[in-house]
Amino acid sequence: MKVLVLNSGSSSIKYQLFRSEDWVAIAFGQVARIGEAEGELKLNWLDGDGNPQSRQETPAIPTHQEGIDHIVAGLRASGALADVSELAAIGHRVVHGGPNFKHPVIVDDAVEAEIRGVVPLAPLHNPGHLAGIAVARRLFPTVPSVAVFDTAFHQTMPPTAYRYAIPEFLYTEHRIRRYGFHGTSHGYVAKRAARVLGKPLEQCNLITLHLGNGASAAAIRSGQCIDTSMGLTPLEGLVMGTRCGDIDPAVLIYLGKNLGLDAEAQDQLLNRQSGLLGICGVNDMREIEQLAADGNARAELAIGITVHRLKKYIGAYYAELGRVDAIVFTGGIGENSLGIRRRACEGLERLGIALDEEANASRESRGERCISASDGEVKVLVIPTNEELEIARQALAAVGG
Ligand code: ADP
Repeated sequence: MKVLVLNSGSSSIKYQLFRSEDWVAIAFGQVARIGEAEGELKLNWLDGDGNPQSRQETPAIPTHQEGIDHIVAGLRASGALADVSELAAIGHRVVHGGPNFKHPVIVDDAVEAEIRGVVPLAPLHNPGHLAGIAVARRLFPTVPSVAVFDTAFHQTMPPTAYRYAIPEFLYTEHRIRRYGFHGTSHGYVAKRAARVLGKPLEQCNLITLHLGNGASAAAIRSGQCIDTSMGLTPLEGLVMGTRCGDIDPAVLIYLGKNLGLDAEAQDQLLNRQSGLLGICGVNDMREIEQLAADGNARAELAIGITVHRLKKYIGAYYAELGRVDAIVFTGGIGENSLGIRRRACEGLERLGIALDEEANASRESRGERCISASDGEVKVLVIPTNEELEIARQALAAVGG
């Protein structure tokens, strides 16, 4: 059987098709610029001999329905999917599941309504997901659509971690609390880390650091999330590409009172113009590291603030967990930036955290690897994330496969 994973945004749909026997991604791609005069259609697949092939077109894609039509037509034409009846499930990434979804669920009308009810908490994400889900259910009524939530993994947090110290009615009436995101990634790398450590996940205490354009940390005790850095929205926590992460909320009050910025302007400022971009004018860590190496002081400061924040979270989560088996780096920066990994772990020898410089710097292995010194009590691991694969597996499990 096969599992199709869809990540539907407001104007794009990314997809991957997995073969469930060996979990190989036999096709992947995206449709983008939905609703514009010229769309974008990308398909990559493995041909009958296992050789990679690709195709790109620019037809107009007026709606999500045409987008999914194009995806399925492309998968059929390439031979990756002979017939829709081969699909055991369609797994949909859903960023915000609100307070009730603790696991992936097969989408019915009630589930769709609940995801819609959470739109105010994730106005940039959930409407696009809903569009993709509605079309998939309509086009393929015999294939179960499964919603896999970024928030679900964090639902094991205790109230002491997920409640904010604000008046209670804001929680009870307005659902304002910490939810956390990137949960599919944190959950996936935690499972892989347990394998590398050679112990059951239920016995592992981990600090997982997902460092991409968005970035978040999670504290995992006995395999379950007990704290995470993102909050009501993905804005809180670590320094990100364009998001500020932790900030004194009074900054917003100040901006409103003294600069006359309304909620929309504040949203733009903190979500899209801050973070690495705000500090040094660039949001791509590769470029920033190059600029810093060339002596650019703002780029160096951006790295410094990023690392300072990371260390604070490692320290805080260490204190929460008491005992840590491993720190796990993942995401584009976590997997590739040896400088960020080195600086985040620097000076933590008293906590049992020390890197093997050579292993950290080695570019030979891009797979799962241990980069801590042999006498380091806490293992430091690099685990490439694979959210799509995890969504595919969870979707299949949800339909009993
Ligand atoms: P997204 O959150 O959009 O999925 P990724 O996980 O792909 O993002 O991470 C993107 C980030 O990873 C960018 O800041 C990019 O510069 C950084 N990155 C990718 N490769 C490297 C590298 N070799 N060294 C440093 N940073 C890297």
